[in-house]
Amino acid sequence: MASEKIGIYPGTFDPITNGHADIIGRAARLLDKLVVGVAINPGKGPIFTIDERVELVREEIKYLGNAADDRIEVRPFAGLLIDFARDVDATVIIRGLRAVSDFDYEFQMASMNAKMAEDIETVCLMASDKYHFIASSLVKEIARLDGDITQFVSPRVAERLEERLHG
Ligand code: ADP
Repeated sequence: MASEKIGIYPGTFDPITNGHADIIGRAARLLDKLVVGVAINPGKGPIFTIDERVELVREEIKYLGNAADDRIEVRPFAGLLIDFARDVDATVIIRGLRAVSDFDYEFQMASMNAKMAEDIETVCLMASDKYHFIASSLVKEIARLDGDITQFVSPRVAERLEERLHG
């Protein structure tokens, strides 16, 4: 359908947190279809492989428990974000904004992407107050130090992190 509003939500998702899941659920309600793009991103040195990250995101979506599940797709991607957007016919890029510290980077990215593709709009959703402090990098750090991460990620992700770091 040509008038379908398709958006992509790109990220590294290493691993997916409750904050990411919240953005996915909220973004899906704004769009006809949401494609969650898991960036291969070797530069960030992810602890989960691209296949593991994709699988974890897919599992989370199954458990999101909203009616939008069949309108959400998860795909790995490499290369330029705007090329990925074009591949899936998306006209919207969704990002999550946690704090002022996210703003500079997101603003710069959105501006560069807008210069390269002015038909694609970046939409930033404000992090929910329940999740605004959650970052994958800190969750990994806490898990590494044997801290309790159960309020930041799902039980499935917590288990996988435990296996990966201490298994
Ligand atoms: P990236 O490498 O692209 O920053 P991330 O997986 O860290 O990938 O984040 C993907 C997107 O999700 C980013 O827009 C980031 O700001 C957003 N995000 C991360 N954590 C949260 C959170 N707790 N609440 C809302 N948005 C978040």
